[in-house]
Amino acid sequence: MKTLRKVRPDRGLELQDAPTPMPGPGEVLVQVQATGVCGTDLHIDKWTPSYHFMGSALPVTIGHEFAGVVAALGQDVHGLAVGQRVTVRPSVVCGVCAACTEGRADDCVTRKGIGVSRDGAFADFVRVPVRNCVPVPQGLEPKIAALAEPLSVSWEAVRAAGVTAGDKVLVLGPGNIGQGIALFARAAGAAEVVVAGHGDAPRLQILRQLGFDQLLDFAEQPMAEALAKVASSRPFDVVIEATGVAAVIGPAMQALKPRGVLVITGIHAAPVAIDLTALVRKHQEIRGSYRAPEAAWPQVVAFMEEHQSLLAHMVTHTVPLSRALEGFELARNKTATKVMVVPDVIEEASA
Ligand SMILES: [Zn+2]
Ligand SMILES: [Zn+2]
Repeated sequence: MKTLRKVRPDRGLELQDAPTPMPGPGEVLVQVQATGVCGTDLHIDKWTPSYHFMGSALPVTIGHEFAGVVAALGQDVHGLAVGQRVTVRPSVVCGVCAACTEGRADDCVTRKGIGVSRDGAFADFVRVPVRNCVPVPQGLEPKIAALAEPLSVSWEAVRAAGVTAGDKVLVLGPGNIGQGIALFARAAGAAEVVVAGHGDAPRLQILRQLGFDQLLDFAEQPMAEALAKVASSRPFDVVIEATGVAAVIGPAMQALKPRGVLVITGIHAAPVAIDLTALVRKHQEIRGSYRAPEAAWPQVVAFMEEHQSLLAHMVTHTVPLSRALEGFELARNKTATKVMVVPDVIEEASA
């Protein structure tokens, strides 16, 4: 089968042929139907220092946002049948260590990420633990079902923020995660959702298609000025940051109301200076948000089923696996919101 692999601890990825894997005990073989290109994949390609921990897992097939069909069952697999459509939680934990049994699965001593430290889904097939499979309805398009992982990150950010009916919410970063945050904030009853980017015309255009019209581009008007204007009548109840850009934090906190909540989801390359005296005097809170709990996934799947045609706007490009690296380029230059990689055979059949 075809795979896209990180072979060496250095820049670059390689398309390689590999034997189709056999599912082990408690695992299933998933025939991949669609895999999203994520910022993480771009970092792995570029070999940025925060991913050097992968070194001991190489060579490894990458790709962690995916959906497919169960093609074979390993031993001791119950509750899932061949032919079932699934999306897959990429975080593989043991379920028996102290952290797992105390409900802190993220701290599992043997935690491995599918597509990061064990083989992932830029491939025709991938073997995964059955407990990581989340069934999806037959009618849900694979390219939509493959959005489950990034949407779960957005879902968790909105939950962490505690968005409630009537809130005025600012989303910083109009990419895939920011778009999902805007959707879940609206679903939580936010009265106003403002989304801001920087030189992000294509992604802001997708937000327009998703039904958002309060959109800011800081390449066209200075950030502090634009935020002061939009917060002048009423400051934001909640700000959710999905940029990883340090410069947005100060102006975001100025646009936030007293006792407001700032949620950080961006991965910041360096420590960020914050005016803590202003935070203290305004009783503001900063919360971090990262991976969604297991329990969020069925809710995300239900949301995807209900809003399938809307979510289709987020999948801006589709490329076959043999041309996956062209898809990486589209994601890198901010043209795309979400690039989906599909098997070559499916691509040919639909052409
Ligand atoms: Zn991802
Ligand atoms: Zn564990």
